[in-house]
Amino acid sequence: MTSPEPPFGFAFDNSYARDLQGFYVEWQGARHPDPQVIRINEALARELGLDPAALATSDGAKVLTGAVAPAGAQPLAMAYAGHQFGGFSPQLGDGRALLLGEVLDQSGARRDIHLKGSGRTPFSRGGDGKAALGPVLREYLMGEAMQALHIPTTRALAACTTGEQILRDSGPEQGAVLARVAASHLRVGTFQFFAARGENDKLLQLMQYTIARHHPDLRDLPVPEAALALLRRTVALQSRLVAQWMAVGFIHGVMNTDNMALSGETIDYGPCAFMDAYDPATVFSSIDRQGRYAYGNQPGIARWNLARFAETLLPFLDPDDDTAIRIATEAIDGFSDIYEADWLAQMRPKLGLTTAEDGDFALAYAFLKALEGQGADYTNSFRALGDVVLGDAAALRAQVTDPEALRDWQEEWQARLARDPLTPKARAAAMNAVNPLYIPRNHLVEGALAAAKAGDMAPFDLLLSVLSAPFAAVAGQEPFAQPAPDSFANFRTFCGT
Ligand code: AMP
Ligand code: MG
Repeated sequence: MTSPEPPFGFAFDNSYARDLQGFYVEWQGARHPDPQVIRINEALARELGLDPAALATSDGAKVLTGAVAPAGAQPLAMAYAGHQFGGFSPQLGDGRALLLGEVLDQSGARRDIHLKGSGRTPFSRGGDGKAALGPVLREYLMGEAMQALHIPTTRALAACTTGEQILRDSGPEQGAVLARVAASHLRVGTFQFFAARGENDKLLQLMQYTIARHHPDLRDLPVPEAALALLRRTVALQSRLVAQWMAVGFIHGVMNTDNMALSGETIDYGPCAFMDAYDPATVFSSIDRQGRYAYGNQPGIARWNLARFAETLLPFLDPDDDTAIRIATEAIDGFSDIYEADWLAQMRPKLGLTTAEDGDFALAYAFLKALEGQGADYTNSFRALGDVVLGDAAALRAQVTDPEALRDWQEEWQARLARDPLTPKARAAAMNAVNPLYIPRNHLVEGALAAAKAGDMAPFDLLLSVLSAPFAAVAGQEPFAQPAPDSFANFRTFCGT
């Protein structure tokens, strides 16, 4: 059903539907008993040329939950495959989601509007096609927090309830739909779907679409050069993204290849979380029993996923199989150096460095080593470095159980700072602009979601507003910068299904 009224403002231009026929199934969302908009991201709506007031109406709720397609939308479920926890599933696809269509935002950038939780599709397998309110609001919060931290991410446009109870392991939950916006929903798994079927014509079409959408400057290259350039660009985007995650202590939790976006955005916030005490083995996801996606494993997993992407491009890299494999291997082998440079580019400003010296990598790494096993809150330890620069070392010492463990490192760091030109005041200000004070701490997120599920959105709104400005200290917001209480030491997140 298509409804032109009221004028939500969607000016759809659906390149995926138009250019990639055979890569998706046209589909409609479910009719829900009582769709209600509970939150609209007004600033994002306006960025997309949408009218937030119109979207907040009952007609808007039908659109945002997938029951009614607005004029110009071409709702579809995308086909994709993926390696999940290392094992290959040749068919995943949008089992509870729809791509409504694409719009051009105010800067001219093409953005997908996608609904998650909109009902069963031909890709649902055993699933109910639904999403629960808690995970929907969690994705909303996490995406906005990442955006404010300047980390590429999909973003929530709206959260709706459906008026339906859905069944989860934890018991009945309120059904909900997240409307989200992404630079695209092209995934490593999208390429894997066609590679696994040996459909090389489609794979080439997909490669050309991806290049036109995300790297238009590569469009006129011959196929082998284009394939290699796309691979290298994707390596670069993922390396930088994961370096940014590592810098803020973000753990994605489910880095399956179907959850790796070719746009370089963070996508599919499920059992993700920010690390509290620094420990590279940190895992929060209840389904990640082997710790495959632990904090410290994320760069290695990114590389592994990129190798799976490279495999899908082999037919285009060179007509000779061995040569193609050699080219792909070289590109993937390049990841380690690229990642090291990206990580250091994150760490230098976090440590207050504006110049480069050979010893900086070791210095940054030694800080993390000094925090390890000390119960040191990752976020607050970095934030405390700004205080040290201003002459107050107490805040840093307070982060660790044994302050002596930091003494040597601190001396070395301060000797290094003496060779870097900034004044203490300017340095501390620069550090506080990259070392966040407010992150979505697990106990705060859980508290806000529990209140929301009980009908009280005030804690969610407050947390969302604190997270939208993570760097500047605000009087009265001190509780938001406190580490998790000890009762959260064994905190687990559950898959957002
Ligand atoms: P995710 O873990 O959310 O990235 O999803 C992995 C795959 O499982 C995707 O193909 C999803 O569409 C599918 N999926 C997850 N939850 C459901 C659900 N409740 N119903 C149907 N499919 C689902
Ligand atoms: Mg996913």
